[in-house]
Amino acid sequence: MIIITKPGVTDAQIDHILERIHEWGLKTEVSRGESRVVIGVIGPEDVVREKPIAAIPGVESATPVLKAYKLVAYEFRGMRSQVKIGDVAIGGPALAVMAGPCSVESREQILAIAGIVKKGGAKILRGGAFKPRTSPYTFQGLGKLGLELLAEARQETGLPIITEIMDTKDLEMVAEYADCLQVGARNMQNFSLLKEVGRSRLPVMLKRGMSATIKDLLMSAEYILSEGNFNVLLCERGIRTFETLTRNTLDLNAVPVLKAETHLPVVVDPTHGIGLKDHVTTMALAAVAAGADALMVEVHHSPEMAKSDGEQALLPAEFDDLMTRARAVAAAVGRSL
Ligand code: PEP
Ligand code: MN
Repeated sequence: MIIITKPGVTDAQIDHILERIHEWGLKTEVSRGESRVVIGVIGPEDVVREKPIAAIPGVESATPVLKAYKLVAYEFRGMRSQVKIGDVAIGGPALAVMAGPCSVESREQILAIAGIVKKGGAKILRGGAFKPRTSPYTFQGLGKLGLELLAEARQETGLPIITEIMDTKDLEMVAEYADCLQVGARNMQNFSLLKEVGRSRLPVMLKRGMSATIKDLLMSAEYILSEGNFNVLLCERGIRTFETLTRNTLDLNAVPVLKAETHLPVVVDPTHGIGLKDHVTTMALAAVAAGADALMVEVHHSPEMAKSDGEQALLPAEFDDLMTRARAVAAAVGRSL
């Protein structure tokens, strides 16, 4: 249910509305726009519907959200959400770039790459410590050691870190180190994991499953918000199609559609989206033009030695070039980077 307050509603009236709703055992999410306040009411639909919300002074309208996804729907807040990773706000006028290797491989590797992406202008360091690999015989990540090395890289560079959580049993440990949890494409519909990260207060970047529709992605995000965690970013990272020349098909349609459907910020990962390093920058620029709020890009100083995804990683100079060109595209669409 979405409550729109009357123009000129007073703080005392808002407090009264919230008090009344909380007395009914329902929760609220308040969004203050310039001229109005939107109050999202959270609770079982049948209970919410029978309450005389429209009769509370200061309420102009109380409308049920008819879509299957409620808390993630744009109208639930009536304004764009910003999610903070460390001190970096995502979803405002400034775009942010998350960059780093696919996997944390060694101390030297992650510290070197962290320095390179920081110098290039990245605001967040990425790196996997737990890797969801197609084959059980390939590198699975350094686990706890990888997390410790990421924390050391954060200490050196000041960049907040995003890293993947694959299993609920690791959440406490990963949350001790990460500034943002990444739920990977293969886990987009791991509902127990979604609920668990929903109970965490850390921001979560949810990547689109490789065969998931845009609605599936939104429904999965709804699981996280429904547990109380509204700090969610949605990430388009390419879907499986009949195309075989590229690793995936980056679905840039998802960017404007998601931004119309949801208040959550939208991230694009052109690296996994196309899987070919020569074309990552082109797709990154297209993502910025399409309205992405952030980019996630894999960078490696020695891709031929990488333990995962070396063929799609940008070299440092290529990353610098991406940043320079992305700044120009961002400016052309009224954003900054
Ligand atoms: C990754 O970011 O390295 C990764 C494994 O991504 P995805 O879940 O999108 O495949
Ligand atoms: Mn990767």
